Amino acid sequence: MNKTKISFEFFPPQTAEGAEKLVATRKQLAIASPEYFSVTFGAGGSTQERTLQTVTQIKAEGTSVAPHLSCVGSTRENVLSLLNTYRAQGVNRIVALRGDLPSGMGSIGEFQYANELVAFIRAETGDHFHIEVAAYPEFHPQAKSARDDMLNFKRKMDAGADAAITQYFYNVDSYFYFVEQARKLGISAPIVPGIMPIVRYSQLARFSEMCGAEIPRWMRKTLEGYGDDNESVQAFGLDVVTALCEKLIAGGAPGLHFYTLNQAAASLAIWNRLGLKK
Ligand code: FAD
Repeated sequence: MNKTKISFEFFPPQTAEGAEKLVATRKQLAIASPEYFSVTFGAGGSTQERTLQTVTQIKAEGTSVAPHLSCVGSTRENVLSLLNTYRAQGVNRIVALRGDLPSGMGSIGEFQYANELVAFIRAETGDHFHIEVAAYPEFHPQAKSARDDMLNFKRKMDAGADAAITQYFYNVDSYFYFVEQARKLGISAPIVPGIMPIVRYSQLARFSEMCGAEIPRWMRKTLEGYGDDNESVQAFGLDVVTALCEKLIAGGAPGLHFYTLNQAAASLAIWNRLGLKK
């Protein structure tokens, strides 16, 4: 019996057309019997309303849903109001993050780091929410040092997080080393690898630049060599990311969290190749 838990992450669509497409994406992904769908949350304004709308829709469809909630630029009052809204809807999972302020936007607000948000959620809502936090096998780009980042990760877990989802990575050793270090610090919670399927190289390179996830040289050179030949990019990506997932599962990863970018095909192709059908 295969025990690998699967979850899929979406961003809240900006248009009615995008929302319709996402409904179709969710229908396709349902075949993988995901444990939950998660929906990202941007710092500030209308994107936050769209997260709530998307979460409400998914909940109404009967699938478990985990809204992301980032605290930077926010107040205790705003966060509590959102938590109460989710609670009233029967949502019982949260991915708790610090987030990043868009450049030029406002002040940090009442929370500085994700550990403060986790502590706040626990203080205000007890055990209602299953809380996931972010983990960085290749370290957060702003971390002072690898050790510092690890200790800051521990702060979030100690504040009451139940589990973690990692930033994506293509160096499998970074994940196993991270988990080993976490266990040495007494963190026993599941650490679920975040999986980024490869669909378009230019987009992947941009994301990786921003979030500090390394594309190993051999992959970068191969992908660059394909130029605009997206078919080859995707075929290579499918091979490489499936092999990564196989190693993760064989090494004991508790699940796979797919960054879908609101597309079903690439994540499903990997899932199919892995033979994870229950
Ligand atoms: P933190 O855990 O607060 O860490 C941020 C930095 O501060 C790190 O360098 C850490 O070492 C340091 N630090 C942490 N705590 C302390 C402390 N107490 N004292 C001193 N230093 C400290 N972004 C979004 O805007 N919306 C999303 O929906 C979203 N979803 C994500 C989902 C996942 C699974 C992941 C991995 C990332 C996601 N992000 C999202 C990106 C994330 O918000 C950014 O990486 C952000 O820069 C850090 O958020 P964090 O919760 O990891 O922050």
